[in-house]
Amino acid sequence: MQFYSTKHQSAPANLEEVVMQGLPPDNGLYMPDEIKPMPEDFWQNIDRLSFPEMSYQLALQLLQDTIPSQVLRQIVYDAVNFEAPVVPLSSNLRCLELFHGPSLAFKDFGARFMARMMGYFVGRSPQKLYILVATSGDTGGAVAQGFLNTLGIEVIILYPGNKISRLQEQQLTALGGNITALEVAGTFDDCQRLVKSAFLDTELRNAMRLSSANSINLARLIPQAFYYINAYAQVKNEGREVVFCVPSGNFGNLTAGLLAKRMGLPVAHFVAANNANDVFTHYHRSGRFEPRPSVKTYSNAMDVGNPSNLQRIEDLYQQNLSAMRKDIAAYSFTDAQTLAAMQEAYSLYGYIMCPHTAVGYLGIQQYFKEHPNPNATGIFLGTAHPVKFLDIVEPALQVTVPVPENLQQLMQQPKQAVAMSTNYEDLRLFLLQKNKNG
Ligand SMILES: *Cc1c(COP(=O)(O)O)cnc(C)c1O
Repeated sequence: MQFYSTKHQSAPANLEEVVMQGLPPDNGLYMPDEIKPMPEDFWQNIDRLSFPEMSYQLALQLLQDTIPSQVLRQIVYDAVNFEAPVVPLSSNLRCLELFHGPSLAFKDFGARFMARMMGYFVGRSPQKLYILVATSGDTGGAVAQGFLNTLGIEVIILYPGNKISRLQEQQLTALGGNITALEVAGTFDDCQRLVKSAFLDTELRNAMRLSSANSINLARLIPQAFYYINAYAQVKNEGREVVFCVPSGNFGNLTAGLLAKRMGLPVAHFVAANNANDVFTHYHRSGRFEPRPSVKTYSNAMDVGNPSNLQRIEDLYQQNLSAMRKDIAAYSFTDAQTLAAMQEAYSLYGYIMCPHTAVGYLGIQQYFKEHPNPNATGIFLGTAHPVKFLDIVEPALQVTVPVPENLQQLMQQPKQAVAMSTNYEDLRLFLLQKNKNG
């Protein structure tokens, strides 16, 4: 089994190249050569499998002979070690809660799996691997937790000082070990520019082994397919059709759902829910893909103006928009609608949602309004714990959201961050020094 680039200009790659390089040289995105559906008896007995075991069987089918099965089993069992419950709000409305991992967002699934994959491949090299990542909040926390204590790997996270929440900052700065946080005296764009300069610095790259934990690494998508299938297993006995609604930004999560469908998941429809950054919704309606600068919203992890995984979605549908529309609906919502949805879910069901999840809640309602289906259950994805967005959730709902226990401990730990200027030369010297000290 090999992997091709969606741009079809680069040579096929093996799993190690896909995981360690992230991007093919032609700037496309990697996709598996073949996605084989799971056999009939897998679907018949699925409600008897544990989440890790089901995930392992799916990973084995998808990755086949690219990695020894015992290694893969260990990686999957380690990565998928927390629950993703489907929580009922009403008879036909459910939330798939993906925020019970260490950083309280769905990105934990991808980051944990990718970290263990990288840990396996780096194990063969005597040279340390440095993962360099810029974050505006959520990604950094998941990557830090995912790579914590991975042998042979050092993680360096750049974040904009004073621009992320205290909880998010603790998730980056209080772990210690192989995780180093650089507090940049600038914006997220500065952080990204610094990271980019480092990757373009050939001299630096000759001196040390650098890699990114980019969200478009295929290793981050693969484990996300598992939770759609695990969600189906939880509602299968009801014998109803299932519609999934995915609050989307860079569209990795939705792409993973489409992979699950290719593996045989019986899903009636997908709904892509956007905030005011509605490039995909616009493309879905008009057929024109017109990226533009992102605008800031309450659901800031979805503030993406040029969703890169669209390349993968188009590839899966062989650029056939009408085929894509048969599987995926798309809607976008304003911040005012998002707040009203959070308030509605709280008053009707006593359910507290983060703003991203609220966009998913809006999407599934809109879909059923336009396509009533009494035989369907709507599952919207809960992408982050409401406690990560307290400054929006608490005033909107007039409630206090209790902080989960593992996070309370983290909040007590001392913050450790290295102050960094926006001058690339400073980052360069820091990295070389760190590499020298081992
Ligand atoms: C990253 C993120 C999203 C968007 O997911 P994509 O895979 O980029 O579409 C939605 N909600 C939360 C909380 C996130 O962190």
